[in-house]
Amino acid sequence: MTLTSTASPDVLVLGGGLVGSAVAYGLAREGARVTVLDEDDGGLRASRGNFGLVWIQGKGYGLSPYARWSRSSATRWPGLAQALLDETGVDVALRQPGGFHFCFNDNELAERDKRLSTLQAELGDYPYQMLDAAEVRARIPHIGPAVIGASYSPMDGHVNPLKLLRGLHTAMQARGVRLVSGERAERIEPQAQGFVVHGRRGTYRAARVVLAAGLGNRALAPFVGLDAPVAPNRGQVLVSERVARFLDYPTLNVRQTDEGSVQFGDSMEEVGFNDFTTTHVLTDIARRGVRAFPMLQHVRLVRMWAALRVYSPDGFPIYDHSAAHPGAFVVTCHSGVTLAAAHALRVAPWIMGAPMPDELPHFSARRFEHAGELTPAH
Ligand SMILES: Cc1cc2nc3c(=O)[nH]c(=O)nc-3n(C[C@H](O)[C@H](O)[C@H](O)COP(=O)(O)OP(=O)(O)OC[C@H]3O[C@@H](n4cnc5c(N)ncnc54)[C@H](O)[C@@H]3O)c2cc1C
Repeated sequence: MTLTSTASPDVLVLGGGLVGSAVAYGLAREGARVTVLDEDDGGLRASRGNFGLVWIQGKGYGLSPYARWSRSSATRWPGLAQALLDETGVDVALRQPGGFHFCFNDNELAERDKRLSTLQAELGDYPYQMLDAAEVRARIPHIGPAVIGASYSPMDGHVNPLKLLRGLHTAMQARGVRLVSGERAERIEPQAQGFVVHGRRGTYRAARVVLAAGLGNRALAPFVGLDAPVAPNRGQVLVSERVARFLDYPTLNVRQTDEGSVQFGDSMEEVGFNDFTTTHVLTDIARRGVRAFPMLQHVRLVRMWAALRVYSPDGFPIYDHSAAHPGAFVVTCHSGVTLAAAHALRVAPWIMGAPMPDELPHFSARRFEHAGELTPAH
């Protein structure tokens, strides 16, 4: 059976997670005809298991263009959220009141200040404050005595990430994007006039192809002369029953969702393609959450899961256009919620021929060619 339509799209997007959907939505806004191929429910899907932060503070330590890139997305986020609401009726519950990173000892506080002051020195306009316990308590009355201080930045926020995925899927399809669910791209064949993608169920053609398949990009990239050395990094998350509103700000490891439940989680583990939960990590996550907010000690937990982040060797995104096969692009990152607005509103126009955004040359996978051992960053 072939699913190839007679009118080929302009662009094939491989992967329908947050990255592929944001790019496809942006491409449709540019007037492109787009088909998205998305593997079935057996695929790995960070987009359905994440924490929902639109987070800026601390990001880009060691590569300040990443801080600029992330911030350019955060400032475009209100426009994206409003467009999704107008076009689909889906309210992704964007709130950007600023975010807190709690510290539990003097070393953490000093380390935090060092990281943020370095970024501020490099970037200039980079608002943040270091707060002592009393100053934190004045804004978040329920914090526990173990919190000795925090960094706060007005740049941070959060959304409901499942509503975001639904909003992007609905909006892109309303703009004519064809979403082929349950279709895995197995092979890409570059041709003189574009690309043929061989899926499990059919064959698809387009002048341009965008690799946005998360951890699947690693296998797809070599077909088009690209490199996407991404690997899994497991994160585990706990969710509580709904409780009365007590927390107006997102924090790095505890946030209260728009629906009232509390999410806990900030674990990072290198355990390969294993997305099982483990009791000891979940216990640690819960313990840290209760240290920050002792009043949550008896809250009932209703769900827990693990999901795999899409990590490059240095933790920064990979954006590339193939020199060997022009028209083939790779877009991959580990902050697909934060960067959704940049993907829709800055990466998509570039794919359609607009100048490359200034920050993007820093994120080519060519940076790994001569790299030794790298430490993942945020
Ligand atoms: C626990 C956790 C917490 C996180 N918290 C945050 C956060 O607070 N803020 C933030 O910004 N980011 C966060 N992230 C990261 C964020 O979820 C990811 O960056 C984002 O979901 C990546 O989206 P993606 O589309 O690249 O990948 P995925 O969601 O993995 O989607 C890839 C899609 O491609 C499909 N696919 C794969 N191979 C193929 C193929 N060959 N053919 C067709 N389809 C294919 C898959 O089925 C999948 O649907 C978190 C991640 C985790 C795991």
